[in-house]
Amino acid sequence: MKELQLGPTMLVLTQGDITRVAADAIVNAANSGLLGGGGVDGAIHRAGGPAILQECRTILASQGRLPPGRAVATTAGRLPARFVIHTVGPIWQGGTRGEPDVLAGAYRSSLELARGLALTTVAFPSISTGAYGYPVDQAARVALRTVARFLSERPLPVQRVTFVLHDEHTLDAYTRAMENLAAAHEDL
Ligand code: ADP
Repeated sequence: MKELQLGPTMLVLTQGDITRVAADAIVNAANSGLLGGGGVDGAIHRAGGPAILQECRTILASQGRLPPGRAVATTAGRLPARFVIHTVGPIWQGGTRGEPDVLAGAYRSSLELARGLALTTVAFPSISTGAYGYPVDQAARVALRTVARFLSERPLPVQRVTFVLHDEHTLDAYTRAMENLAAAHEDL
């Protein structure tokens, strides 16, 4: 299962490179320092060019480091998207340090920003499941439940939320999580 209709919004799973996605906003799994890093963060800054980093520096100077679970928006520079929403997921420390709440916060804050900017299409990577070590099956469940809950509580101008998953293993985990979510939809 790769698509789930949630009210007016379609939730879609795809495999690919998020830097090539022409959504209104793509979400970056950034770190609190906001100055780039490895994984999807590095790919976004490399492909989007220096304008993104410049805005990140301005944000950092005015509001300091970005706490895990929060989000900020910048230009997308040369990327086909219009905005990059930078959010910070939790570093996995075994699952008893509030990691699920922080991960859910990262998805919610990103969608709040998208709503504030009246965006209609948003693309997410799998936040925290690379360098930050969050087990992908658990992260997929939190990600999809959080997005689905957010959309059911606050109808958005967002028409499409896409998860752009880099590898097949991650896509498989999100596919299973979507099947479970669809089966339990009435419990949301
Ligand atoms: P984190 O530090 O939050 O764990 P990472 O960037 O290390 O972030 O990994 C998050 C996920 O993003 C991983 O599944 C990784 O494979 C994936 N990823 C890496 N590059 C890209 C890309 N260009 N597009 C989409 N996903 C990507």
